[in-house]
Amino acid sequence: MRIGCHVSIAGGMANAPQRAADLGCEVFQVFTRSPQGGPAPKIDGDVVKKFKEEMIKWNQAECYIHAPYYINFASANEAIRKASIKVVREELERGSLIGAKYLMTHLGSAKDFERNKALKMVAIGVKEAVNGYKGSTEFLLEISAGSGNIIGDTFEELHRILEHVKTPDFMIYHKVGVCLDSAHMFASGYDIKTKDGLASTLAKIKKTIGLDKIKLVHANDSKVGLGERKDRHDHIGDGKIGIEGFKNLAKSFPELDFILETKHDKVSQDIVKLKEMRKNV
Ligand SMILES: [Zn+2]
Ligand SMILES: [Zn+2]
Repeated sequence: MRIGCHVSIAGGMANAPQRAADLGCEVFQVFTRSPQGGPAPKIDGDVVKKFKEEMIKWNQAECYIHAPYYINFASANEAIRKASIKVVREELERGSLIGAKYLMTHLGSAKDFERNKALKMVAIGVKEAVNGYKGSTEFLLEISAGSGNIIGDTFEELHRILEHVKTPDFMIYHKVGVCLDSAHMFASGYDIKTKDGLASTLAKIKKTIGLDKIKLVHANDSKVGLGERKDRHDHIGDGKIGIEGFKNLAKSFPELDFILETKHDKVSQDIVKLKEMRKNV
C-alpha cells in the first residue's frame, strides 16, 4: 500500500510531483484538464520529459488520473455521450504519455433512460472508449455514492456493466477495473465501518465483480451517514466511517494504493494517519 492524495496541476503538469511530495504523498492523483470542461492543456514531449524527471526527483511511485466530472455514458444527448467517450479515450492516451497507471471515471446518470438500458449504454461507452486503445494507462470505473440517478453505486450494477463489456469478447473486459471510494460505498449503504459490515461487503464483491477487479482505493471519510446517498468527503476519522473503519479497510486491501480526496487544509494529517495504519497491516 502506497498513500497519496489528489493534487492540482496549476502552473503545469510538471508541478504536480513536488506538490504531492510536499504533502507527504508516495503516489498521487491529478486532473490533466479542467474537471468542469474546456480544452485540455497540451502534453508535448517537453512536458512528458519534465514530468517524468519530477516524478523521480520527488520520489513519486505512481500518478493516477481522474476523468472530468461531466462524463456521462448514459446521456440521451448524443453530443454529451460522444464527448464523454472521446474525453475518456483522450485521457487514456494522455495518461499513457506521462506514464499514469490508472484513469478512473464516474459513469454518469440514468435519468434519461430506464435503468437497464442506462447500464447497457455505459457498457457501450466503455467499449467505444477502449476499442483499439494500445496505451499503458488502465481504465477504472469508480463506484458512486448513488445520489439521484447516478449509475454504479452497487457492486451488482458494476457487475452488470462489466458483464455487458464481455461481449463480443473478453478483450476490453480484461482491460477494465474498478476504483473503490470508501465515502461513496458507505453513502451507498455498504457498512464498511464495522468488521462484519466490511466482511459482508467483501463477500458481495467476491460474488459480483470479483476482488481482482479492484485496483485502487479512494480513501475518504464520509460526512453523511450509512446509506444517505450523498457524495460528501471528510477527513479520516472526522466523518461517519471513523478510524476503525479505515483500519479494517487497510487490512482488507494491503496491496492497493490509497488516494485521499479530502481538503488540503488537513490532507497531510490524513496521509500521516493512513501511514500509521499501514504499519499494523
Ligand atoms: Zn471520483
Ligand atoms: Zn466523492
